[in-house]
Amino acid sequence: MPLDDFPAGSVWLVGAGPGDPDLLTRKAARLIAAADVIFYDALVGEGVLDLIPATAERVSVGKRSGRHSKDQGTIDALIVAAALAGRRVVRLKGGDPAIFGRTAEETAACDAADVPVRICPGITAASAAAAAAGVSLTLRGLARRLTLVTAHAQAGVPLDLDWPTLAAPEATLAIYMGRAAAATVTQQLIAAGRHPDTPVLVVVNASLPAERIIRGRLSALAFLTDAISSTDPTILIVGEAARFTLPSRDGSGSKGAEDRSWPTELCPARP
Ligand code: SAH
Repeated sequence: MPLDDFPAGSVWLVGAGPGDPDLLTRKAARLIAAADVIFYDALVGEGVLDLIPATAERVSVGKRSGRHSKDQGTIDALIVAAALAGRRVVRLKGGDPAIFGRTAEETAACDAADVPVRICPGITAASAAAAAAGVSLTLRGLARRLTLVTAHAQAGVPLDLDWPTLAAPEATLAIYMGRAAAATVTQQLIAAGRHPDTPVLVVVNASLPAERIIRGRLSALAFLTDAISSTDPTILIVGEAARFTLPSRDGSGSKGAEDRSWPTELCPARP
């Protein structure tokens, strides 16, 4: 990538990853270092914010469930105005900007104002959560589909998801913003045919010092998420993929519990 990919008056939508600054891409770090102004979300990790140069203006446009400090239209307008003023603009978002990140609105706003805009990908929460727990989100023959889905519903509007598709036994579900809807998710998935004993993982603050990994079964999902604070980012992983974990991550320090060790057909023979 040439060094002139960030001219004055342009915008980069940059993925900040799940929180750990080590999980930031080198490109994201370079764009942050070159920015004149950075608009960032509440989920951007402290360690990533520490990389913002003292010379750059930093603006929190943080959005947290139930507490929107700036609405999307205002954020779009701020980004465009900064670019039209001739500044290098980074819009820094948790995870990957193109996954539940309102990237479409922001690129459209830039485009409408003839402001050049590009996207720098980031590690999404599902990947960080799987890595933290030592699971593979896909498993040959068992978990052949990965669905990223949000269970965030607008107040008073029932969750309108394609439950029969989500209930397919070979689907791994990575459910973003699903903590508050855990009871509904459980009930609807089971009603649509997903087995109540389907393994689940709840990963809170993936990649951050306060990371927590909770394991269980679909039937207990609401119970597992009950005590988690609404301010702690939480992702739910549902499916057979959540059953098989690295031995070092099952808490026993040795080989995993019998139903958690990797099926031999998934482990390539060592030469
Ligand atoms: N663009 C982001 C997702 C934004 S939606 C991404 O690609 O990851 C915000 C939701 O992402 C949170 O409610 C939570 O479900 C999930 N999330 C983001 N960071 C997380 C983290 N560090 N640990 C667990 N879940 C996280």
